[in-house]
Amino acid sequence: MWQKKSNGWFFYVLGSAGGRAKDRYSMCLYLPESLLLDAGNIFALSRDKLLQVEHVVLTHSHLDHLVDIPFLIDYTYGLREKPLKIYGLPETLDSLRKNIMNWDVWPEFSSLKLPTTDEYAVEYVQIKPLQEYHIDGYRLIPVESRHTVPTVSLIVKREGRGIVYTSDTYRNPELWKMIQEDPEIKLVLVDVSFPSYMSMVAQASLHHTPQSLREDIKLISRKDLRVYVVHIKPSHEKEVLEELRKLDYKVYPIVGKRKLTV
Ligand SMILES: [Zn+2]
Ligand SMILES: [Zn+2]
Repeated sequence: MWQKKSNGWFFYVLGSAGGRAKDRYSMCLYLPESLLLDAGNIFALSRDKLLQVEHVVLTHSHLDHLVDIPFLIDYTYGLREKPLKIYGLPETLDSLRKNIMNWDVWPEFSSLKLPTTDEYAVEYVQIKPLQEYHIDGYRLIPVESRHTVPTVSLIVKREGRGIVYTSDTYRNPELWKMIQEDPEIKLVLVDVSFPSYMSMVAQASLHHTPQSLREDIKLISRKDLRVYVVHIKPSHEKEVLEELRKLDYKVYPIVGKRKLTV
């Protein structure tokens, strides 16, 4: 049967660093028109785009991944007509509510109604690993990651083409086996935070170095997978980039913002 060939889809990396520094912002992916994965640099979006954001999926509770949530709801509260839906593991949402949206550090917007409708400003949605979620035309599947707090990597698919955003992670052979066996997955964004000489720190904080990433990549024999490196610590950017250049597997580091086609 004749099938229309998909031209693919695209998304924006709004923040790609493992911290903050001049011109460096923490993890934030924008999938038009209304979906964000992590909230490290939401204000890279224009006002119009910001107002269209309805869904933010948080991979875990660390500050660099949710730092803009309080400001996003504050900015859009008086203007939005639908609740902002915040998705995460139960532990992630609990931490956000207990430590930030707690009336002490910031208002708890899930108990405030929007001025224009009868709906609450924020809605929390719990997610579970290996369940499938349908959000704004995307299929989203969380997979358990290897990090110091409960964390998910995210598989996102559309039109039969997918990406994996590992979020913060150390070695996770199960995930790389899934990637190897799923030809629909076209690209991976993977955490490499530290240079390899800091492997003690990387292991203690459960992040990759170029060396540990190379171990996981050994599980990939497909030739069509693009591997992008993100979450580089700004203070060690030069060293990590230099090391990645010498790696015997081609990877593409992202520092700053970027549009990617899937
Ligand atoms: Zn992080
Ligand atoms: Zn983290």
